[in-house]
Amino acid sequence: MKNEIKAHNNILELIGNTPLVRLNRMTEGFQGDFYAKVESFNPGHSSKDRIAIHIIEEAERKGILTKGSTIIETTSGNTGFSIAMVSIIKGYDCILAVSSKSSSDKIDMLRSMGAKVYVCPAHVSADDPRSYYQVAKRLHEETKGSIYINQYFNELNIDAHYKSTGPEIWEQTGGQLTHFVACSGTGGTISGTARYLKEQNPKIKVIGVDAYGSVLKKYHETGNFDTNEIYPYRIEGLGKNLIPSATDFDTIDKFIKVTDAESAHTAREISRKEGLFVGYTSGAVMQALKQLNEEGEFNKDSKVVVIFPDHGSRYMSKIYSDKWMEDQGFLENETVEETQAIQFVK
Ligand code: PMP
Repeated sequence: MKNEIKAHNNILELIGNTPLVRLNRMTEGFQGDFYAKVESFNPGHSSKDRIAIHIIEEAERKGILTKGSTIIETTSGNTGFSIAMVSIIKGYDCILAVSSKSSSDKIDMLRSMGAKVYVCPAHVSADDPRSYYQVAKRLHEETKGSIYINQYFNELNIDAHYKSTGPEIWEQTGGQLTHFVACSGTGGTISGTARYLKEQNPKIKVIGVDAYGSVLKKYHETGNFDTNEIYPYRIEGLGKNLIPSATDFDTIDKFIKVTDAESAHTAREISRKEGLFVGYTSGAVMQALKQLNEEGEFNKDSKVVVIFPDHGSRYMSKIYSDKWMEDQGFLENETVEETQAIQFVK
């Protein structure tokens, strides 16, 4: 008798069930135990695989999507990659409107995955016809038989994490976690995961990470959408210049803000200290942990889970480029050791 072939039917079967990895050297001297859910283990290398498959399969179940349909989305890159990947396997066309802030690596990657890409200016208001929201909306209206994923305003974004990320973390920690800390962009990850976790144990403290230049923290604290809070910043995928309905603010206990420079340095530190090559927002969430630890948020019994949303390879021309870091003014006062010194052997 022949042995059974142990293969997956296609790449989509590998979405989810990402590992939880203990942080060691990054959290030396901190109060408590710290664990990262490493979302780059998804086949599309980010947490966005979870929402792409969930939203597309819900549309199929409802009969909205049929073979040859077009899927349209606004995306800083990761969601686009995941949608393009799902579209290939399921036989859909994929159109993506992306921000000019996205790295050229990300844009090239989307095109390599067969998506048609529109690059839209980053620093215009959300209701400007050139913004990626408005461009996607227009393309959806113009393209017959298309669906618009609309991740910022789609309740299924929350649902995807409620059904997958939340239960996985609960199971992986044996229900022992005391804190959940995650970056908030659309808010799907933090609020879907938090909704599930708080249903299991309402005492779990949920902390959102926001960027300077974003409105989320102030909105959460005051209920006011304050346009004075808005200015350009470098971190992709974190914070927002609008209030996404895919964020359930009630599930979040508090927000903390982090800077572009500190988040970039912290991401670089994670690779050097943990051997984990992570994206810019992983640096942001780790930077938030440093600040929270300083503030006395944790104690020796704390069991803290953070999300590392994507992989460092998507930022080679950004935070992992000394030239880019220098151009941003992020390398002032750095020692040679902290930059990645190269020795040329002749
Ligand atoms: N990190 C990265 C790299 C992202 O692309 C995103 C999504 N915008 C996030 C974090 C935030 O996740 P969410 O949209 O679920 O809040």
